[in-house]
Amino acid sequence: MIPLVDLRLQYSRMKPEMDKVISVVIEDGKFIGGDKVNSFSQEFARYCSAGYCVPCGNGTDALEIALKVLQIGKGDEVIIPAFTFIATLEAVCQSGATPVLCDIDPATYLIDINNCQELISSKTKAIIPVHLYGLMADVASLQELCRKNSLYLIEDAAQAHGASRNNIRSGSTGDFSTFSFYPGKNLGAFGDAGAILTNYANYAQHATKIANHGRLAKYDHDIIGRNSRMDTLQAAILSLKLKYLDDWNQSRQNLARRYFSNLSNVEGLVLPKVPEEAIHVFHLFVVRIKGSKRSELRKFLAAKGIETGIHYPIALSKLKATIEELGINASCPVAENAASEVLSLPMFPELAFEQVDEVCLAIKEFYS
Ligand SMILES: *Cc1c(COP(=O)(O)O)cnc(C)c1O
Repeated sequence: MIPLVDLRLQYSRMKPEMDKVISVVIEDGKFIGGDKVNSFSQEFARYCSAGYCVPCGNGTDALEIALKVLQIGKGDEVIIPAFTFIATLEAVCQSGATPVLCDIDPATYLIDINNCQELISSKTKAIIPVHLYGLMADVASLQELCRKNSLYLIEDAAQAHGASRNNIRSGSTGDFSTFSFYPGKNLGAFGDAGAILTNYANYAQHATKIANHGRLAKYDHDIIGRNSRMDTLQAAILSLKLKYLDDWNQSRQNLARRYFSNLSNVEGLVLPKVPEEAIHVFHLFVVRIKGSKRSELRKFLAAKGIETGIHYPIALSKLKATIEELGINASCPVAENAASEVLSLPMFPELAFEQVDEVCLAIKEFYS
């Protein structure tokens, strides 16, 4: 059996260290806030080359809080790619703003900057590119577009811990970058957690207040906030794991290279495109299956004990929630086509080369 993702191996390889870190927090008896949360935030800001990191409850909250700080809400429009996890859309809806779905580039699956430009209206307040699958969007061009049109740039970096493009690190630019530490992400907690990164001290302070009941000190509730905090336990776990993140990303890249060399000549199968100027961290390894053969291939692989996934089977423009609840009627043909052809192959740092070879052999067998 070759799983799509297996989180157990990672823990078993670091069990003594991890168990110690966890028991220290439990024995300390402090579970909300404290030094562990502050030190992880500082470490993660440094890792991303960002000025400030505000810890929060999860990656969706991180986006919502960023939008709130920028005072984006009712009557405003926010452009997001039509091909992403629903959280990007949900955050915009929760802010009260109207999401505007932008089509994607067919080769990289990232937001199509030309389409983005066409969608800018007098109501547009921000663009949220998503660094999908571990590949950073072209933030330099997006920044330029935002500057010209006086828009905010919020990067959804939930899938791109450690990625970079043109030597720009994910998390280091824009008005805000947001991260998720959902367990399966490149840097994952043992539960939910998230972070908001920014280079602006006033934004960081405002976000810190929003995430903790509108206060900085115990009962000084300056504004109406909410509860979206990172648990002390999760911070301690993430702090330990952060030390290994570069090694894990390196493993993902080595595994990707193995997939590339094994699958380079399979007709009907399109490999991921990695722009020359990008460092891709392969949160997912996603191929494209031409000719309506995806479900057949999935079944073939499943019969051999090889698990695959689909990220994502339905473009945001075609979701029931988008059409029926939001009443949005957007046409994003490139995203919709991608949704019908993408297939995620097993990818996690502890995956063995032999397992990649086995997956590739099975795929070649299917096509022969
Ligand atoms: C995982 C993810 C999120 C949301 O993160 P949660 O921590 O699950 O709330 C947002 N955007 C993208 C692109 C994601 O992959």
